[in-house]
Amino acid sequence: MTPVLAVRGAGMTYSGGVRALDGVDLTIRAGELLAIVGPSGSGKSTLLTVMGTLDRPTSGTVEVDGQDVAGLSDRELSALRGRRIGFVFQQFHLIDGLSATANVATGLLYAGIPHRRRRALALAALERVGLAHRADHRPNQLSGGERQRVAIARAVVKQPALLLADEPTGALDTATGAAVLELLGRLNAEGTTVAVITHDRDIAARLPRRLELRDGRLVRDTAGGVR
Ligand code: ADP
Ligand code: MG
Repeated sequence: MTPVLAVRGAGMTYSGGVRALDGVDLTIRAGELLAIVGPSGSGKSTLLTVMGTLDRPTSGTVEVDGQDVAGLSDRELSALRGRRIGFVFQQFHLIDGLSATANVATGLLYAGIPHRRRRALALAALERVGLAHRADHRPNQLSGGERQRVAIARAVVKQPALLLADEPTGALDTATGAAVLELLGRLNAEGTTVAVITHDRDIAARLPRRLELRDGRLVRDTAGGVR
């Protein structure tokens, strides 16, 4: 089966000469749950932006559903990203003035779905993350863990091919973080492909596949051994 995501020989050199990624190869198949783990500064967030097509690598290729994204215009690329990739960030990135439901519905803006249907799907996604009872709350009326659940609902509402989470538990206490991780595990069991980026080895150890990043290079992939 065509992988959901394939990164081949990806390098990223920032202006100023920092080489944040160097020859990264990885393949993610539908249904996987994996961690990309490495210390601060190892290139995790850069890899996330490359995997998520938010930024183009300075060398190498990125394929989503078997399609090399280098051939797409910025507009085509954002449409593909909008439909196929969901993002969760450490700081949630919710919109303050919107209810939980309206925040989740923004996850469908690229999908060309009418307003009422967006709302119904957003409510269903909130239910999946256990927050139906907070549907009308604004982010400042929610706890950190609840905010991250809203952000996760926003990412999964469009049924993305791949959910990318960058330090999703980084702003939460240990127990709340564990619950968020458990939620990601449950969504994976229900069919969502999930990659968790983390500096925390304990979190990585709980996921079935781990890729280790060091100085911009993948030094280990438990699916493919030591490199
Ligand atoms: P991590 O998420 O693992 O902490 P990053 O991907 O954020 O690592 O950073 C990897 C390296 O690239 C670091 O040396 C960082 O300072 C550098 N870097 C990250 N983003 C930029 C940028 N926009 N411009 C220049 N250097 C950057
Ligand atoms: Mg980072």
